[in-house]
Amino acid sequence: AKRMRGNSYAFYHPSMKTEIARRLLIEQELGDDLRDHGIYFVLQPQWDTVKDELYGFEVLSRWRHPTLGEISPLEFIGIAEDTGNILKLTQHLFAEVFARVSRWIRQDGFDKKVAINITPYLLTQKSFFDDLFDLLERFRIPSSMIELEVTEETEMVTSEITLGNIVRCRDAGVSIAIDDFGTGFSMLSYLSYFPVDRLKIDRFFIDRIGNDPKSEAILRSIIHLAESLSCEVVAEGVETEEQVQFLRENGCAIVQGYLVDRALDVDEFERRFVKNVL
Ligand code: C2E
Ligand code: CA
Ligand code: CA
Ligand code: CA
Repeated sequence: AKRMRGNSYAFYHPSMKTEIARRLLIEQELGDDLRDHGIYFVLQPQWDTVKDELYGFEVLSRWRHPTLGEISPLEFIGIAEDTGNILKLTQHLFAEVFARVSRWIRQDGFDKKVAINITPYLLTQKSFFDDLFDLLERFRIPSSMIELEVTEETEMVTSEITLGNIVRCRDAGVSIAIDDFGTGFSMLSYLSYFPVDRLKIDRFFIDRIGNDPKSEAILRSIIHLAESLSCEVVAEGVETEEQVQFLRENGCAIVQGYLVDRALDVDEFERRFVKNVL
């Protein structure tokens, strides 16, 4: 399903009725208590290709709806943003993820990176960070395990509050990654304004390795840029060995994509990567 924003229809078509009904249903349910609503998360491994070991994972949310079936996060995250429910939805998701990770830490000494997506709007909300640090304390999760991936789909507000929230993360050891780097709104201006810990290189460039010398040149520049800013890099959407080799040769060791694994359901992730959980 495509992300829908500010629907404005110039003419009538019968499918609009079901589209509108669908949207209303999703809006309404996002306003409810989110427990037992079928919202869950899957985990996609991030692999260190130099050490040849798990580096961490990205949390991706999912919604298995009783009547609408699987709803893409691109759709329901967008609707939650439009209707003011994104804070609640994200807090719900973080609490679920942290409960699970907390068990892995206690029982298995798990210490890998946990990367979670947030929308740029949340960077402007002090209450989001109050809640985040409360949760980390409650679940006794080291802040340094957490990375927030900020998508570039909407413009990031460069305010004092946002900067304060980012500095608070930095001080606590929570890292900030710019997601889809190289394709979004923001790009270079943010880097001069915000302390950023990681650039997540968009699949657009990874896809073109081996076919497009310009994209390869841009990739090398992004990796060098990251180095000179003391940022780390991770490549997303890695699907071939050729891509891994190019990335490793050019200084990007951490990869995520179908070559390593698809997003796994949490029990499967646990079976494969967490050893001693009872
Ligand atoms: P994203 O953060 O850029 O996540 C990567 C997307 O690419 C995921 O789609 C993932 O399943 C997919 N992907 C991973 N590896 C490969 C690959 O090798 N090849 C290809 N072709 N695709 C790959 P997904 O799970 O449908 O998520 C879509 C977007 O929805 C995410 O893009 C992210 O922006 C957003 N999203 C998902 N969960 C959350 C969330 O909890 N909060 C927020 N704010 N956004 C979320
Ligand atoms: Ca992401
Ligand atoms: Ca991304
Ligand atoms: Ca994206």
